[in-house]
Amino acid sequence: MINTVLGPISEDELGITLMHEHIVVDITGAEKSLEKPYSVEEVVDYVLPFLMDAKNKGCQTIVEATPLGLGRDLEVLVECSKRSGLNIITCTGAWDGADVKGLSVPKDIQDMTIAEITNVWTKEFEEGIDDTGIKPGYIKLALGDEGKIFPLQEKMLRAAARTSNKTGMFIACHIWASVSLPLVVEILEEENVPYERFIWVHADGQMDMEKILEYGKKGIWLEFDTIGAAEDFKKFPPAIKKLQEENLIPQLLFGQDSGSFWIKEGDEDWPMRPYARFFNEFVPFCEKEGLKKEFFMKVLEENSKRVLM
Ligand SMILES: [Zn+2]
Repeated sequence: MINTVLGPISEDELGITLMHEHIVVDITGAEKSLEKPYSVEEVVDYVLPFLMDAKNKGCQTIVEATPLGLGRDLEVLVECSKRSGLNIITCTGAWDGADVKGLSVPKDIQDMTIAEITNVWTKEFEEGIDDTGIKPGYIKLALGDEGKIFPLQEKMLRAAARTSNKTGMFIACHIWASVSLPLVVEILEEENVPYERFIWVHADGQMDMEKILEYGKKGIWLEFDTIGAAEDFKKFPPAIKKLQEENLIPQLLFGQDSGSFWIKEGDEDWPMRPYARFFNEFVPFCEKEGLKKEFFMKVLEENSKRVLM
């Protein structure tokens, strides 16, 4: 069974699963994000047509990748799931990607010890988030984008590792700078986290094939998930073919990093990244390069199921 925002579901109910999407993303910081300057209705009306397009293309489940501090909003997720009929999986964890240096990490998490954070995240899994009864399906992290692991990031990574070892939840960790991956894996090894419980989120960010192959062979999951924001898809077919040659397709996951209803400073317009781009644009492009639609659907269904269950 895996937890969704509407309760646990069995593996037969997962179907085609996109591994990394967003509904609300608030980048104004963890404290400000609690203000929620929008109504649930407003968000749902905005994203629902995009969700329905993905559903009509065969998608049944969306793994939502926004932890507390970055805009996780369970009321919105519940309403989106009810109205679209899609399963939505939420997360525990915290986000410290880009160069924001703790801005999106809740203040109380920043002040806690590893053991205390582990307790908070484990409690969300065992008892539910706050008093909602909704349980996370996995642990989301973001770190290492400046080529090193800061003390706050190491603390969160060790807490994620210990939460994973207690609960069995997998860790999905945003690491854009591939140079940071070995530093992260070293800490996971010290914490005895099995490789198959770790997803390298944005493995395709720099498409560093050397690290992709080396760490894929160790057994970590490789998530190609920058598809939603990609200017074009040229780099993907050769990388996928290389994974086929090296028998690493069993380690591959797909997401888009799509959405979002953005909450940010300034007037610049950030467009929504449609949830169906994978089906409408990415797969047709790759088909022209000789990759089959069935291959993509199989990865979305079977590999996603293996990591989630
Ligand atoms: Zn993301």
